[in-house]
Amino acid sequence: MITIIGAGVIGLAVAARVAGKGREVYILEKNETFGLESSSRNSETIHAGIHWPEGSLMAETCVAGNAMLYELCEKHGIVCRKTGKLMVATIDEEVGRLEELLDQGRRNGVKGLELLPRKKVKELEPNVEAVAAISSPSTGTVDSHALMRYFLNGAKEKGAEIAYKSKVVGIEKLPDGYDLVIEDSTGTSSVRTGVVINCGGLHADEVAQLAGIDIDEAGYRLHYCKGEYFSVSSSKQGLVKRLIYPLPDPATGGKGIHNVFDVDGRMRLGPSAQYVDEIDYSVDESNKGVFHDSVKAFLPFIEYDDLEPEMAGIRPKLQGPGEDFRDFVISHEGDRGLPGLINLIGIESPGLTSAPAIANYVAAMVDKLL
Ligand SMILES: Cc1cc2nc3c(=O)[nH]c(=O)nc-3n(C[C@H](O)[C@H](O)[C@H](O)COP(=O)(O)OP(=O)(O)OC[C@H]3O[C@@H](n4cnc5c(N)ncnc54)[C@H](O)[C@@H]3O)c2cc1C
Repeated sequence: MITIIGAGVIGLAVAARVAGKGREVYILEKNETFGLESSSRNSETIHAGIHWPEGSLMAETCVAGNAMLYELCEKHGIVCRKTGKLMVATIDEEVGRLEELLDQGRRNGVKGLELLPRKKVKELEPNVEAVAAISSPSTGTVDSHALMRYFLNGAKEKGAEIAYKSKVVGIEKLPDGYDLVIEDSTGTSSVRTGVVINCGGLHADEVAQLAGIDIDEAGYRLHYCKGEYFSVSSSKQGLVKRLIYPLPDPATGGKGIHNVFDVDGRMRLGPSAQYVDEIDYSVDESNKGVFHDSVKAFLPFIEYDDLEPEMAGIRPKLQGPGEDFRDFVISHEGDRGLPGLINLIGIESPGLTSAPAIANYVAAMVDKLL
């Protein structure tokens, strides 16, 4: 039996991929339904794969996931929009960094990237100010809820079962598998399983700890990094067609506040990147000035009064404040004496884009185990 902990986009994509072949697959989710945490509190952007270092799992699964997502959206009627993106330099001094990112994106295998001069940017996006920009035609937006529903239905069709309001509170190693202690509305029970796949998102480090892993020694402790969004008034909708990003912020690894579209094409701004100690999804209205200041150089038509607090999400980051880049951890823990346990930790952005490729990666690990 295979048990997946967590029904966010990663747990569901993994379930859809590993189910079948006569396997018994269960998904355990502590909330009352799927996708109530990071997977529904994000930008819904299908990233191209420019931002992440060459050879990293983030870059590789993002580039692969991008192509897979467009294909499965088309095939299964999941709404997505390939809007394209411009990453802009607003002053001449930023152009060198833009060129480095262009080079990194190309080395990562992102197709269609081009460096555009100011004149070309103006032709494409008359309301954007930039001295130059990288054009990324394969960036877009996906209906993340529809995507999760597709993965869940796919898993169920192959015989997987899902239990909601079922929180894993203990993982006990047995000679040939694990006993999972589950807390649900009826109390505490336990289930015996051969394979455990930890897709616990913001709580994936705690889940790994339940299995006896020292998360500090392993480098698995998560840092919460909050991203707030502000809506943009209806009078300013439709003034840009593409996603417009500034240069990324090296201090947080964040992409910098930019415009984001939902699948209906409505524009908002976000996400910010602020390390926090607890999970709190409120939006601090006093950050409006920071949002306005962050975009006014390249989206000058957006005024302070156009912005209203909207929503927030929290990234499960392995990279702490000021620390170096940390990649996704996708690890079979056989070397730690925990064969059959697969941990997915630090699945922050581009996790939504990477989901189908991550699922393939995990499925290959499972195939070796069974
Ligand atoms: C602000 C923000 C913006 C982002 N923007 C983008 C973007 O534009 N594009 C992109 O590609 N990615 C983006 N991401 C990243 C993407 O949202 C995540 O990588 C992805 O949603 C992670 O999915 P997940 O399934 O790992 O986590 P989650 O969606 O958090 O799911 C984990 C699940 O595990 C469950 N769980 C945890 N512990 C237990 C337990 N003990 N027992 C049972 N269940 C448990 C939780 O309840 C939860 O449902 C963004 C993230 C944030 C926060």
